[in-house]
Amino acid sequence: MQKHSIFDQDKHKSSPPLKLVLAGNPNVGKSIFFNYLTGIYADVSNFPGTTVDLSIGYFDKYTVIDTPGVYGISSFNDEERVARDAVIHADLILNIVDAVHIERDLFLTQQIIDMGKPLILVLNMMDEAEKYGIEIDAEALSEILGVLVIPASAVKGMGFSQIKNAVLKGGTIGNRIPEIQYYMNNARQFVTNDAEAIMLLEEDESIIKRYKSDKRYCCRELFYNTRRNYVNKIVSLVQYKANIKNSKLSSFGNLMLNPAAGIPILIFILFLLYELIGKVIAQHIVGITEDIIMGTYYYNFIIHITSNILDSTTLTGRLLIGEFGILTMVPIYIAGLLLPLVIGF
Ligand code: GDP
Repeated sequence: MQKHSIFDQDKHKSSPPLKLVLAGNPNVGKSIFFNYLTGIYADVSNFPGTTVDLSIGYFDKYTVIDTPGVYGISSFNDEERVARDAVIHADLILNIVDAVHIERDLFLTQQIIDMGKPLILVLNMMDEAEKYGIEIDAEALSEILGVLVIPASAVKGMGFSQIKNAVLKGGTIGNRIPEIQYYMNNARQFVTNDAEAIMLLEEDESIIKRYKSDKRYCCRELFYNTRRNYVNKIVSLVQYKANIKNSKLSSFGNLMLNPAAGIPILIFILFLLYELIGKVIAQHIVGITEDIIMGTYYYNFIIHITSNILDSTTLTGRLLIGEFGILTMVPIYIAGLLLPLVIGF
């Protein structure tokens, strides 16, 4: 029996017709925006043939799909394959970007733009960026990319209503990298869908199979390097890093990275651990739990309650309450000796 995916429109006739796909790197806040747009009722369905779960909800005329976090569109693992198919079939992409790491995250953004997909960019974690003294010129970024850029902070509730309004209006197809555009014109001879044409040029194995193409393509390395350099250039134009004073914690972090200070700090921490685990717990606390609580009170209690029914000189007696007995030594060692050490660690 053939398996059908969420992307097969015929199998999902009752769902809103357009697909809004949330895409971004891992841990950029996608699920917060997904929950905001779709409310609490989301279906989680397994993507056929993989162990990847997709959250699917609804917003206005859109079926909203939250994809696994990926750094680029390709097919090296199940997460990437699922994200790739979601992006290829999307009518609108809501691309969530971490404002603290735009040089990393905008690679995916530019790749989706190169695929010709309408996109809205959410510049999330603006609160974090501010903390690190990072300023981003959202207007300039929007102009260069050719898409709407919305500064946001999911945890502070900033940018939500702009995102909702923007999704209702729809996104724009951004500015493709000119060199990549040049190769695209060739690829369009055999693939009409721009998103798949890019994937074919980027030598994506499953798209090559899908088109039963035996031709080898040019461009994985070339596109990767071109896009990397292009994004680096964009970042240098729109991002300003203020020289803010380090917080106490990050100054301490830097101190620990320096071997001259880090090694003495390490030795001091190991010494504290030895004092705590090796002396306080292993000697003093275990002395109380093993010898007094378990070894005396518990042991006497067990001997007392079994004295009428067990003879400690018989085999059963030795097995249960002898020197190595199941009711004596085992609980004394576990509760009196091992447990305090494990808890201490
Ligand atoms: P996803 O993996 O992209 O779905 O990311 P999540 O929605 O699970 O968020 C990852 C983490 O980032 C969580 O701990 C969030 O609380 C945190 N987070 C998300 N957005 C923001 C933000 O705007 N500011 C800050 N400081 N943290 C955020």
